[in-house]
Amino acid sequence: MYNEDEFLQLSGIQHFAFCRRQWALIHIEMQWKENLRTVEGQILHENAHNPEMNEKRGNVIVVRAMPVHSRKMGVSGECDVVEFHKSDKGAHINGREGVYMPVPVEYKRGEPKSNNIDILQLAAQALCLEEMFCTDINYGYIYYGETRHRLKVDFDDEIRNEVVKLFEEMHLYYRRGYTPKVKISKKCNACSLKDLCVPVLNKNKSVAEYIDKFISETGE
Ligand code: SF4
Repeated sequence: MYNEDEFLQLSGIQHFAFCRRQWALIHIEMQWKENLRTVEGQILHENAHNPEMNEKRGNVIVVRAMPVHSRKMGVSGECDVVEFHKSDKGAHINGREGVYMPVPVEYKRGEPKSNNIDILQLAAQALCLEEMFCTDINYGYIYYGETRHRLKVDFDDEIRNEVVKLFEEMHLYYRRGYTPKVKISKKCNACSLKDLCVPVLNKNKSVAEYIDKFISETGE
């Protein structure tokens, strides 16, 4: 069980699964370069996170921007949307009759990816919700802005184990303050940090050292 001061950011799992170095730059070295891709993503998220938009649709209660955490995995974050479906199993909700099954829904700007990083993030949210509500959650959805389609995701043992393993590894990296060295590959083309990361040709230097050196050399 982790203490709150050890919690890592849940959404970091998508960075970590994509590239260990990208995650370390963002979450250990706190370097972040905004580009169109991330800004557009934020706009879609802002809509999903608008608390005015909370609603009840028939037997479904929709809660937006719901904070979640897991002491077992040592992570905290926020679900874009959690739908509580009236069900014969699930959790009780304050002020509501009956039992509801939490179903996480994640909003993404683009289209379904060829890797499983979005699925890992959604599964991580589901594991947090399971721990918080003491219930099993078998599925969730990812809504893709480009295709305007909701993809149903089943949480099987394989994806659950992968989430747990990745968070364990992230805690190890974080405790050691370890940023892996640059390893250029095809995925660097789609990386939002490539301008910051790839110019670091001296592979023994951290990006923070690189930026310090750059500033002292240019006098900026
Ligand atoms: S540019 Fe490549 S090595 Fe650097 S953080 Fe991005 S994906 Fe990782």
